[in-house]
Amino acid sequence: MPAAPRVFVTTSWDDDDRTGLKVAELLTRCGLGGTFYVPTARLGADSAFSSADLRALAAAGFEIGAHTVSHAILPRLAPSQLTREVKECKTALEQDLGAEVPMFCYPKGRFNAAVVPEVKHAGYRGARTTQMLTFGEAFSPFAIPTTLQAYPHTRSNYVRNLVRVGAGGVLLQSIPTLIRFENWLRLGKSTFDRVLRQGGVWHLYGHPWEIQQLDLWAQLKEIFDYVAHRPGVAYVTNGQLIEATHGSTLHGAEKPRENQSVIH
Ligand SMILES: [Zn+2]
Repeated sequence: MPAAPRVFVTTSWDDDDRTGLKVAELLTRCGLGGTFYVPTARLGADSAFSSADLRALAAAGFEIGAHTVSHAILPRLAPSQLTREVKECKTALEQDLGAEVPMFCYPKGRFNAAVVPEVKHAGYRGARTTQMLTFGEAFSPFAIPTTLQAYPHTRSNYVRNLVRVGAGGVLLQSIPTLIRFENWLRLGKSTFDRVLRQGGVWHLYGHPWEIQQLDLWAQLKEIFDYVAHRPGVAYVTNGQLIEATHGSTLHGAEKPRENQSVIH
């Protein structure tokens, strides 16, 4: 019998809203792993995470990743601002957590050829984009794609997302799936089934504040329950995913594509 294909499930959650704690609770209940990408400027203010929240998330097994200082759109910045936005958030989080923060996430998925070297230079080991409908392990660690956003995108949004990142091959392969499943929950289940059959990575990302705003909690619980507790599946954080898939080539010279996605 051929060996079963290896399957990873990871999730990631962006921005500083404390609603993230509710997402973490659901993830924990389902035995799922994940990374919270947090901008540092507002930590402790209003409805944002506090440093104690982040330490509690880390203690519960979640990964805290950096998401700039002020959620700045990186390709628009002057070089000195770019360096600051990428570096200072890492230092601040590492001080709060007392541990390395190896992962970064580009605000609104926006990066270009000037941004990636800054991210590498700051000492990160990987960075997540907002590219969707991707399932394989063959990606650059500095352009980590996702499979799906927990958000009711229209069919044309998915197509635009793939066209903007120049992922024509992914788009062509995805058309039959998109035609059948506009509903994100059904798309999530069908893409997960595909990864289970073929092997690869199923990566759900989202914004906790958006889950709250659109009241997607029941749907989120349904998709978590669907993918949880499957034999042979590795449930990991984004950093653990990179370690498992790219561990020996983390500092390789692979060059990610420019990404102009507007889906954040
Ligand atoms: Zn964000």
